Amino acid sequence: MRSVAIVGAGLSGLAAAHTLLDVDNTDNSYSVTLFEKSNEVGGRAATRTRAGFIYDHGAQYIKEGTPLSLSLITERFRAPDLIDIQKPIWIFDGDGHIQEGDQKQNQEQKLNYRSGLVTLACQMAKGLSIQLETRIKRVQRIPTGWQLFDDAGTEYGPFDSLLITLPAPQASQLIQRSQLDQALQSSIIQQLGAARYNPLISVILGYQVQPRVRPYYALVNTDKQHAISWLAWEHEKSPERVPPGAGLLLVQMAPAYSKQHMETAALTVIEDVERQVSTLLQEDLPEPVFTDLQHWRYALPAEKADAQTLNALTLPQGLAFCGDAFVGGRLHLALEHGIAVSQQLIATHR
Ligand SMILES: Cc1cc2nc3c(=O)[nH]c(=O)nc-3n(C[C@H](O)[C@H](O)[C@H](O)COP(=O)(O)OP(=O)(O)OC[C@H]3O[C@@H](n4cnc5c(N)ncnc54)[C@H](O)[C@@H]3O)c2cc1C
Repeated sequence: MRSVAIVGAGLSGLAAAHTLLDVDNTDNSYSVTLFEKSNEVGGRAATRTRAGFIYDHGAQYIKEGTPLSLSLITERFRAPDLIDIQKPIWIFDGDGHIQEGDQKQNQEQKLNYRSGLVTLACQMAKGLSIQLETRIKRVQRIPTGWQLFDDAGTEYGPFDSLLITLPAPQASQLIQRSQLDQALQSSIIQQLGAARYNPLISVILGYQVQPRVRPYYALVNTDKQHAISWLAWEHEKSPERVPPGAGLLLVQMAPAYSKQHMETAALTVIEDVERQVSTLLQEDLPEPVFTDLQHWRYALPAEKADAQTLNALTLPQGLAFCGDAFVGGRLHLALEHGIAVSQQLIATHR
């Protein structure tokens, strides 16, 4: 049995873990341990429950991917509260002009869960060996494989192989702090450096009474000229997400705005966003009864790194990288990449 350590329990890491554990034949099988810095799984597929409101402060919904990833969501890891968001997404421009969105795109499923998007990760995490609240600070290549060290200096391993599933800038920081062949270390850092992430501020506005009912579930800014990039009526996902009669707007700010306001006091940003939302909707919104704000430092990759080149360098050392840094910022793509890269890792052992 070969041992594999996976750093990061987002959808990419979770999908990789199952792909490895599915191998069970006389020549090969795997034991897998995931290390996750947070106190829950899912990474950017994240949900919060506060003051009676349930909201996805990271990713909003899952698109239909390949038949394989769709079957994982709708069959193998199916949760009873899986939903397809029915209302369409409309678009707006920098001048705040709102119009109907792409009809074809709106016909595709927008998958989510009444209890929040994190449900998929929780379903996938069942039965896996996951060390939560364990931030891997550095790794070390030793003759028998890989050792991992957390923030407190605790040592894990050795593992035969190591799979890193972090956003590229975080993966790069981890490699910079690690001990491995210097030439390989420089090459990995150079490859990971090709990926660039945009930050994103999410603002959550809870209202005692629902804002005006609209023919759409969400609005997306298509010309990238508005400070707001996404505005969703979160209570449209399912009535269980808000107290009776209440409403919840979820606002994602554009990269330039988010970059500019990363250090601005939360209350100042929330008040500014409230004003911007009212103007865009031409609706007098009441004082929210609940607000929240989330800074995503590495939200979505604006530029990708090349996984083929990177993993061709590292796989002979039992090291591999996967995640949205290589395929673009979509849940189904991160999940599919976790599967593809772990299959490559398995292939090196045949
Ligand atoms: C605001 C926002 C909106 C989005 N909207 C959508 C959407 O509507 N639809 C969609 O398909 N996609 C969306 N995305 C993109 C999607 O969320 C990501 O592409 C996807 O979640 C990436 O999965 P991943 O497993 O590659 O990375 P992650 O989900 O980031 O997983 C990496 C994991 O590693 C952990 N970690 C980090 N450092 C360490 C360490 N040193 N040690 C241990 N663990 C560590 C993290 O806590 C995290 O759990 C959105 C993202 C954001 C932020």
